[in-house]
Amino acid sequence: EENADYLVSLIRTTPGFPKEGINFRDFMPVLADPRGLSILIDALAKALPVSVDDFDLIAGMESRGFLIGVPLALRLGKGFVAVRKAGKLPPPTKKVEYSLEYGTAAIEVEDDAIKPGDRVLIVDDLIATGGTAGAARTLIEEHGATVAGYSFVMELTGIPTPPDLAAYKRSSLVTMP
Ligand code: IMP
Repeated sequence: EENADYLVSLIRTTPGFPKEGINFRDFMPVLADPRGLSILIDALAKALPVSVDDFDLIAGMESRGFLIGVPLALRLGKGFVAVRKAGKLPPPTKKVEYSLEYGTAAIEVEDDAIKPGDRVLIVDDLIATGGTAGAARTLIEEHGATVAGYSFVMELTGIPTPPDLAAYKRSSLVTMP
């Protein structure tokens, strides 16, 4: 409880970024703080949405998902795969496009990084609409692998979870409006 309060106290909120009406939640100050960083990785490892034996590797979403995915994978004895914004990785890759509020985005993973049958835990700093999380699932399934679950640091309340995503196990350390 004390640790949870400490984590929350380090999350910085910036109203109006990146645009009007958005409250940007920034967990970078948690990483910058030695105690905060230690609490964060411990808490993610403890709050896993599935047993540690039920997944083979961790996929982190560019770029804040990298910052927690690697230390978490190291802690749990798993490998780490980067889910990158399209255009950064050498071929061969698999790519998935998804829609944002305005326009589209695309994410990409190296073909060899995920093998058929792998069970993958997806990690990111924050889930809002779930659009990014859903696209990551599609990408992992295109490799013939399955999503074991999702681990987030923060989850925004008041946004309905898409039904396809609700069927998957997930954990979030902190929920905030
Ligand atoms: P979603 O696709 O709407 O669930 O948005 C989640 C994605 O957008 C994640 O990759 C987050 O890193 C990013 N994101 C959205 N809102 C915020 C925020 O307030 N702080 C940090 N990241 C955010």
